[in-house]
Amino acid sequence: MANNMRYFIGNWKMFGVPKSINIVNKINTFIKSDKKYNRKYRVIITPPYTLLESFSKIFKKKLISIGSQNCYHKDNFSSNTGAVSPYMIKKIKAKYVIVGHSDNRAEGDTEDMLKKKVTFALKNKLKVIFCIGENKKERSNKLTFKTLKKQLSKVLEKKLNKDNIIVAYEPIWSIGTGKIPKSSDLSKTIKFIKKVLSNIFKTKKSIKVLYGGSVDSSNIGQFRSLQEIDGFLIGGASKSSKNFIDIIKNYYR
Ligand code: PEP
Repeated sequence: MANNMRYFIGNWKMFGVPKSINIVNKINTFIKSDKKYNRKYRVIITPPYTLLESFSKIFKKKLISIGSQNCYHKDNFSSNTGAVSPYMIKKIKAKYVIVGHSDNRAEGDTEDMLKKKVTFALKNKLKVIFCIGENKKERSNKLTFKTLKKQLSKVLEKKLNKDNIIVAYEPIWSIGTGKIPKSSDLSKTIKFIKKVLSNIFKTKKSIKVLYGGSVDSSNIGQFRSLQEIDGFLIGGASKSSKNFIDIIKNYYR
């Protein structure tokens, strides 16, 4: 895989109904005609559980990969009402799973649970998009690096398959607020995360680190010069094919 491969990941959160497949179809049509696809960037869409199987089937052999927004932390099957295991996600041919999104941490996902989710997802041959990020208070108390280091080291460990892990840095104060970090701060933070990852995995090989938080087609240009960012996790702006495609177009402008 080329080192400058970028990821554009659309996290639909709790949005989407069966006809929303049209959004993914339009994105697919765009990337089919874009020679940079697969050479310079890849697209992953994470719809809600209700659409996961139909989208995975339709996009099984297409360019876009489909992922889940979360998974349960143990068992292939169990009596946990409402839970969906990595095994079940793998069986419907989804390829990725987001773990540790701040929405789910706020709902009670502990670091212990996240460690189990990551381990179990990797065991089931899913690729993990592991989210980390400081909140507003941690940021104003200058605890960003300390928080990120703790979030990484409590969950990730050397024995895990690092090649199937992508980290997404998503400052909580930026998600859905329209606020994005200053370029110089973001650059330092992404480099710091990569350093912590190198120490955890005892490797010089760089692990992919994405940025997420209020990315849209009007601000994507600001990230272009930050070569250390390996791509973007996009929430609100990924629900419209036009916005999502414009993000990619404007990034490569
Ligand atoms: C997200 O929730 O992962 C996210 C990045 O949201 P938004 O782009 O809307 O800030």
